[in-house]
Amino acid sequence: MIEISDKVVKSIIVERPSDSYKGMFGRVLLIGGSLNFGGAIIMATEAAVNSGAGLTSVATNINNLSSLHSRIPEAMFIDWQESNLVKVIKNSNIIAIGPGLGLDEHAQSLLQLVKRTVKNTQTVILDASALDLLAQDHTLMPTNAETIIMTPHQKEWERVSQIKIPFQEDKDNFSVLKSLFPDNNGILVLKSNHTKIYDCFGNIYQNPLGNPGMATGGMGDTLTGILAGFCGQFSAKIETIASAVYLHSLAGDELYKEHYVVLPTQLSAKIPQLMKKFS
Ligand code: AMP
Ligand code: MG
Repeated sequence: MIEISDKVVKSIIVERPSDSYKGMFGRVLLIGGSLNFGGAIIMATEAAVNSGAGLTSVATNINNLSSLHSRIPEAMFIDWQESNLVKVIKNSNIIAIGPGLGLDEHAQSLLQLVKRTVKNTQTVILDASALDLLAQDHTLMPTNAETIIMTPHQKEWERVSQIKIPFQEDKDNFSVLKSLFPDNNGILVLKSNHTKIYDCFGNIYQNPLGNPGMATGGMGDTLTGILAGFCGQFSAKIETIASAVYLHSLAGDELYKEHYVVLPTQLSAKIPQLMKKFS
């Protein structure tokens, strides 16, 4: 087990070359935000943009159009009908699906569309509702992707893995991970107050940071956005994922020094400054 440290983050976040252009830093697509859960996808979007994604698109319910644009004009909106999405999925490097997605037939069809469309050059991040859809039907796993990152909290992992809390031991987590990903292309970010990241090869990274002020709705959606931004810019390897988890908690810890609760949107706003310190 490796404890994530500043050193890991420093090895990932590098200074941008002077001839940088947005195309170098990833085309991120976020899918989620059903009628009553627009905030979840907006928080994920703010996090992706603030963590440096080159281009961020959001496929969501049409009702979120004006709130998304007024809150985060840097992101592009796509009405989340299937017919609009095939091309944008194909053109994205990172596809994050789940925040506020819901569990209805449309949500399921979107996850199926991602599964059918992604290729082995792309990274898929599965969070929130996408994990609950998977818990119901493991065949929805988009295994064709180059890398698939799952970000369950312990309850979601209980539903996906059938391993009950508090029995989610490393060896059992590895064996479920390996059965879900016969090609070893899956990574599990098991979120808690000491988040652990597992790959299919027996490696574990553990996050030493974080605080109870972060126990608030939207915090996981924010992590999904940071992961998408980081994997878009830096390669989607376990050290990059560990860096995103660490920076999310570091931003939370800095805010917690002066705030009783840490708001996801405040946390996102701190990310560019922290990345600069590590570059
Ligand atoms: P979610 O449950 O999907 O909203 O995700 C919550 C996020 O906040 C995860 O990244 C957790 O690791 C983090 N978090 C929540 N509560 C705590 C806590 N008590 N200590 C540290 N991190 C926390
Ligand atoms: Mg969550």
